[in-house]
Amino acid sequence: MTESLHAKNRFGTLGDKIKVTVRSPISARMMLMLKIEGLNVFYGAIQALNEVNLEVNQGEVVSIIGSNGAGKSTLLRSISGLVRPRTGTIDFEGNDLCDISADKIVQLGISQSPEGRRIFTNMSVQENLQLGAFTRKDGDVQKDMDRFLDRFPRVRERLKQNAGTMSGGEQQMLAMCRALMARPRLLLLDEPSMGLAPNLVTEIFNVIKDLHQDGVTILLVEQNAVRALEVADRAYVLETGNIVLQDTGKALLTNPKVKEAYLGG
Ligand code: ATP
Repeated sequence: MTESLHAKNRFGTLGDKIKVTVRSPISARMMLMLKIEGLNVFYGAIQALNEVNLEVNQGEVVSIIGSNGAGKSTLLRSISGLVRPRTGTIDFEGNDLCDISADKIVQLGISQSPEGRRIFTNMSVQENLQLGAFTRKDGDVQKDMDRFLDRFPRVRERLKQNAGTMSGGEQQMLAMCRALMARPRLLLLDEPSMGLAPNLVTEIFNVIKDLHQDGVTILLVEQNAVRALEVADRAYVLETGNIVLQDTGKALLTNPKVKEAYLGG
């Protein structure tokens, strides 16, 4: 059975009709947003992802944990259209992202805060934020900027400053804020806590919790497994390109295999 629904969250009406497949009374309450099936990604002869299957429902925070080189960034880059899978499908609200260019994927409502931040260091903080909204045609850009800056007061204080002069943590917050400026339906966060001092890690994860409460759907990639699982509705464990475990964040936090491999025993 297929239904058409209108999606909405506190960031405003999300507009477009979304097709979802209703398979059971439980899934009828959860609206499927992203469905990845049989994804195989190669860099030349190196296989980075092997038959990956993953789902994200509207409003969920879904985390992907795994060690260095497990394929976490490759998965996000495949969703963003920056890497093209050899086989498999990535369905986002009825669109197969494997056939769509990266800029069109942004227009569909997917925005990524990339690993290593990749902000424009020679532009001001304000200009970076404006660039985050470049695909938007509505008149609410300034209003949204004000709203998001309320969540990131350190970024607000530095609006006129050159972005390259900010600390690593501040740049990370700017990258998240810039990703939000696209008013995404799905926010992809790649290692938001990487290289940050513990107090800034806490700050970043508090923002993720707030966004979750506001109904923003988030797919989060993290090496900080404890934080990632604490904040997640559901999570996947990725090992050398394979999904080896999936469960609720809470269940994975107490899973003996996860504890041994990722949570320090
Ligand atoms: P990390 O946490 O260290 O960033 P990751 O889980 O995000 O790791 P990926 O960056 O997705 O892992 O890398 C997955 C595999 O693909 C690794 O073996 C990596 O060396 C390889 N890889 C990634 N990018 C490229 C590339 N551009 N060319 C060749 N191999 C690559």
